[in-house]
Amino acid sequence: MALSDCLHCWDTPCSCGWEYRRWAIEDLKERMKLLKHVIKFKEENLTTVFSSSGDETEDDKKFLLHMQPLLEAQNEVYNKRRDAEAFQWVEL
Ligand SMILES: [Zn+2]
Repeated sequence: MALSDCLHCWDTPCSCGWEYRRWAIEDLKERMKLLKHVIKFKEENLTTVFSSSGDETEDDKKFLLHMQPLLEAQNEVYNKRRDAEAFQWVEL
């Protein structure tokens, strides 16, 4: 058992929903967007060779390139939200 295992289903990531009950809707939607992007890659690349650890395969690299624009966009959203929250603290 890892520290991040769900207390109800014992899966990491949680497969029963319990771990997501306190997430903000916006964060849940971002996670869903991420998973949809992963599914898109897998549907477009039905035969892939991924590493289980260690050296990256060509498909690992292709996957990272596929994910990069989405992750950059999500980081931008995260940074804007963080800056807005920091601004609110200054206002208080
Ligand atoms: Zn769970």
